[in-house]
This record gives sequence, structure tokens and C-alpha cells, in this order.
Amino acid sequence: MPRKRELAEYEAKRDFGATPEPPARAARRSPSRKASRFVVQEHHARSLHWDLRLERDGVLASWAVPKGIPVDPKHNHLAVRTEDHPLEYLTFQGEIPKGEYGGGSMGVWDRGTFETEKFDDDEVMVTLHGERVHGKYVLFRTRGNQWMIHRMDPPEDPDRHAPPNDLRPMLATLAAQSPAGDGWAWELKWDGIRAIGYVDGGRIRLVSRNGNDVTRRYPELRRLGEELGARDVVLDGEIVAFDDSSRPSFELLQRRMHVESDSTIRRLAREIPVAYVLFDLLWLDGHSTMELPYAERRKRLRDLELNGASWQTPPHEVGDGRATTDVSLRFELEGVVAKRLDSRYEPGRRSKAWLKIKNQLAQEFVVGGWQPGEKGRTGSIGSLLVGYNDGDVLHYAGKVGSGLSGAAIAELERLFSEHERDDSPFGAGRVPKGVRFVDPVLVVEVRFTEWTASGNIRHPSFLGIRSDKDPREVVRERPVEIGANGDTMQGDARVPRV
Ligand code: MN
Repeated sequence: MPRKRELAEYEAKRDFGATPEPPARAARRSPSRKASRFVVQEHHARSLHWDLRLERDGVLASWAVPKGIPVDPKHNHLAVRTEDHPLEYLTFQGEIPKGEYGGGSMGVWDRGTFETEKFDDDEVMVTLHGERVHGKYVLFRTRGNQWMIHRMDPPEDPDRHAPPNDLRPMLATLAAQSPAGDGWAWELKWDGIRAIGYVDGGRIRLVSRNGNDVTRRYPELRRLGEELGARDVVLDGEIVAFDDSSRPSFELLQRRMHVESDSTIRRLAREIPVAYVLFDLLWLDGHSTMELPYAERRKRLRDLELNGASWQTPPHEVGDGRATTDVSLRFELEGVVAKRLDSRYEPGRRSKAWLKIKNQLAQEFVVGGWQPGEKGRTGSIGSLLVGYNDGDVLHYAGKVGSGLSGAAIAELERLFSEHERDDSPFGAGRVPKGVRFVDPVLVVEVRFTEWTASGNIRHPSFLGIRSDKDPREVVRERPVEIGANGDTMQGDARVPRV
């Protein structure tokens, strides 16, 4: 009898001395009732999936659905037929020990009753009445144990839709001083890589500012997708590496940014773990949150309770920003960001509703050439010639030698080897002699003390390679002056130390 054989498979896969799962009992004839019962379990096994189990002939016919029960008839999901489970499994949740079959935590995600229209060996058509899922579904076998699940009813929430997949982060405007007055929230300025995080069906995709998918470089952030389970969200935050004194270190992060080999990526994820520091929410469960004011977006972000070993949602300060500014100075961080509490999220836009106030001058520059070093560095890179876009022209800004380490020099030499050229890419400014020119494709971060009247930087020091930035977007950052009422006007003042 087939049912008995299938529960034997359930039994054979498990050690009931080790797992808290219910033991297999003989298939029982269900008491006759109008509707049969179903359960959907969220199973954080080696790979997150949802288990759909339908009561049938005294057992639970089961499918593992890696992306969960589809909400939209336009998107079918893979469903893998697994062994029948005993009826006791309808209420099972718990921790299956590591190393056992299906090891990991299992929770009941939805339960309810269903009506059957069809229940064949390769097609099952049911109407589910759960707490979360309502509607008519068909499961159909495509090959072997591979099935698909398709929603036959229209989406339950007709306004629900998927986020655009090319959202760019909202950017802050450099301000000469902190804005006064009410209406501002304060955050620390994190020195890392800005990343938009798309989470759908328990999977996360991380996209950098210039649109590159950087997900595979940060395997420790994959679990954030699993943590969010069936929720679909788009997050905004910064990927940060911390040094031994818990300060964000862009220098350490550099070692994570340019790695291709999977084994090196895995090793570095252990040696230099990163954290995804979350500060905004762009999409939540099928709906944009970008039109909501900052304060409301932050509330919804906080309610997601995303605080783990590799991701955090630090609180923001509402008021004069004194506490946040003090922390940023005490720990010698980059600065602070002030955000208007009533501002909406404007993707890809540099807005004056977000103001960055830096503790020291630093910005990105485009590399246009290099000079060999003297003494020990003869023949290799001694300094970089950097500039910024001024209209259509690359304006020379200065020579950066300080801060260049052996590792950075090796990486720069590798990058330059494909981009050598004879003529200068600079169209303005006084470029020194004896320069090896390169195509203006590489962005670096440079700290400096001040701008000269002719548009050069003084006492520059190299901070790192910014492979996440588009060289065409690099301009001279001019701080705006902040009026007493928090209004902003364009200016070119030196950023004071707060
Ligand atoms: Mn499972």
C-alpha cells in the first residue's frame, strides 16, 4: 500500500532519539469533515524553504517550496515533492538538531483548511483558507519530484507589486555646519560602501552605488535574507568593516572589495567580517515606503528588529544632534548626517533634506596619472595625480603620495596596466612633468586639509580605492551654508571642526 511505504520513507530518514519531530504512525483515516487541513512551515535548514503539507488519506502530502507560496499569478514557484509526513506534523515546530535530516529551526508560518478540486499524482488543485494565504492554487509536476506551484486567483492585494530593481541610494549634500532648529534626525556617517539590499523569498541581493551586484563578496550577509523570511523589503545601508577598537575602517574594507575567488571570499569573511548598518527602508511587503516621511520609514525599519551579528539598525537622534556629533568626534569618525524628519526618500538624488557634516575634509577623486616613487619606490607608484569633473573637463587637483601602502600600490598597478595612455586626461589645472597618464576610470578617496584658490588640495592623504563609485559622478564637493532656520544656501566655506 503506497501510503504506508511513503511514511516508511519519513521514518527511515530520521533518528527519533535525536529529533523532536513526531514519530511516524500508521496512516489513519481522517475523520470525515468538510475541509482538510494544511500547514506551511518556514524551515531554516541548510537552505531556507517553506514546506507546504496537505492532509490526504491520513498523511500529509508535502512539498518544499524554496521561495515560498507565490502571491502573484504571474510568478510561479518551484515546489519539490518530499516524503509524506504524519498528521502530527500539522502542529510541529521546533529545533531539529544540526547534523540530523533537515537540521535547523522549523516554525509554523501558516495553517488552515483547504478544499480539493483535484488530487492526482501529477496535479493538485486546492483552495487554501489560511491566516496568511487565501486563494486557489495548482501544483503540477514538471519532471521527477520537481513541481511548480501557481496561484490561480488574482493577487490578494491587487496593489501589491515588486520594487524596481534599479533603485539608487538617496545622497546627502555636504554642509558647512550643522543645521539648527527642530525637525532633524541625526545619524553617524559610516565609512564603508553604500548598498541597497533587496530581499525577496528569503534571499538578499546587495547592489552598490554604481549598480554592481556585490552580494557574493559578503557571504556573511546572506543570513539577513533568511532572517526576513517571507517578508519582501528593500533596505538602504552601509557595509562597514570595524577595526580592533570598533571604529569603521575603510582601509580594512578595501581588502574585501576587490576579491574574486570564492575561497578567498570565504576566508576574508571570517578574518575581516563586515556589518550591514541599516538606516532606511524603501519597500515593505509589496508597497513602496519612499513616499513616507523619514520618521515613519525609520519606525517601520525599527519594527523589523534587524539586529544580528552581521547587521544592525542603530538608533537615530532627534533634536540638536549634540550626542551624535560628540560620538563622531570622540571616535574620530567621518562625521554626521542630518536628515529632515518630514522628508521623503528620493532615490538617486543628492538632496538638501539630507546633510552630511564632516569632521575633516575628504572626498573622492578621479585618478588621471601617476609618478614613480623615489628611493625605495623607484619604478613603482610613488604618487597619484587626481582630479575632479568640472563640466566636461577633468580638473587636476593634486598629487597624493602619503597613505599609499604596498597592498594598495600592487592593486593600483594591476588596475593601471590596462589603462595606460600617452596624453593627459586632465583638461584644466597645472599638471606636473614626468607623469604616466591613465584613463580616468578609477576613483580614490582622499583626505586633505583645504582647497587652494586655484582648486588644488593641500596635504592630501590616500584613504582607499572606491570601486563602488562612478568616475563621471566625481565633482568638487561644495558645502552649502546652513541658515538659522535650517534653510540651505549654496556656499564654498571651509568645513569647520565642530
Ligand atoms: Mn523542509
